[in-house]
Amino acid sequence: LDRAKAEDLRLFTPGPVDLSSQARNGLAMPVEHHRTESFESLLLRMLEDLKQAFRTSDEVVALTSSGTGAMESVVASLFSPGDRVLVPVSGKFSRRWAGICSAFGVEVAEMSLEPGTGPSAEAIRERLTEDSRIEAVLLTHSETSTGSLTDLECLGPLIRDVGLEQGREILCCADCISSLCVDELRKDDWFVDCAVSASQKGLLAPPGLAFVCLNQRALGRIEASGRSGYYFDLGRYYRDPSRSPFTPSVSIARAVHDSLEHLLALGLDNVVEANRSGAAGLRMIVEHAGLRPVAREQSNAVIAFWVDDVDPERVAAILLADHGIVVAQGQEELQGRILRASSIGKGKADIVGFGRALEATMAGLGRRFTLDDIIQDLETTLEGSRLWESRQ
Ligand SMILES: *Cc1c(COP(=O)(O)O)cnc(C)c1O
Repeated sequence: LDRAKAEDLRLFTPGPVDLSSQARNGLAMPVEHHRTESFESLLLRMLEDLKQAFRTSDEVVALTSSGTGAMESVVASLFSPGDRVLVPVSGKFSRRWAGICSAFGVEVAEMSLEPGTGPSAEAIRERLTEDSRIEAVLLTHSETSTGSLTDLECLGPLIRDVGLEQGREILCCADCISSLCVDELRKDDWFVDCAVSASQKGLLAPPGLAFVCLNQRALGRIEASGRSGYYFDLGRYYRDPSRSPFTPSVSIARAVHDSLEHLLALGLDNVVEANRSGAAGLRMIVEHAGLRPVAREQSNAVIAFWVDDVDPERVAAILLADHGIVVAQGQEELQGRILRASSIGKGKADIVGFGRALEATMAGLGRRFTLDDIIQDLETTLEGSRLWESRQ
């Protein structure tokens, strides 16, 4: 892949996504030494900005890893072998919580859900009431394998209330890796004790940094759990968040810092609204093409859709070869049955362009639809995503 060709590709994948121009420029800066005042102050500003993005007053720490490293650090640091946690599983990423727990000897009470659905308040309350050994619920805010959004606003307070009613502490942990700056998220108001995220999705930066945000309840568990692991022991990172215990990815930190400063200057609510508008437009295109979305409650991070009798690999191959558009396949049990497209950070012109490309691709496969039939409604729906056009 040469540079000119790479410049023409558009990532409609749900992470990594195309970089903001701020992230790209940040990456071009020289590498700084991590034990300098200037880098420590950059890291501190990045962490302060992340607090705003999570809407929290709790400290955030950064790990040099992809998002899964942050998930692993939470399991390794907050729980001990034999502890029991509830994990609603509705796709690849929620299943990952369960897999990490098993690897650390943490018992999983699994709740199996249909792909595209999220756990209901009634079901969570029932499981917590009948199983008094459960110490935490591990949720996936935006399940990126299906595009389904979990109702954290309802479940966070519910988990806390059940704990209060029963006189025990039940922690609410949420994977917010694809939802940060993408879907509405209010960590403190929603009583989320522990949230994790990563650099390569809503922050429009490259992969390489992961973030953890713990409140006092969650921090209290670090010592109590007896700790395990070394690199991913959160106790080390929380000792002094601005002084990373190991060499952090300084270049990615710069990119995240510069990108996030820009997002916050645009306004977090405006950014989420732009992503909502883009996702609504994308969903409209897909539905008009006669393809059914997988998710019942739609996250703004990705639209996953059933391809029925069309071969998803052919659709993806044509989008790439003829239009320079990269989309994602289904994973695990959904492989070969769905495609996934993300409009994170994409403006109106990009998304209409995606619609034209899908129209041509589907026509080539004998499944005609006419984008012009919906173009006016589509343009109205995409008004909010114009925010991204001020990005360059
Ligand atoms: C992207 C993503 C992850 C993390 O994947 P990494 O490849 O480790 O960065 C985890 N959970 C969700 C919901 C995601 O979207």
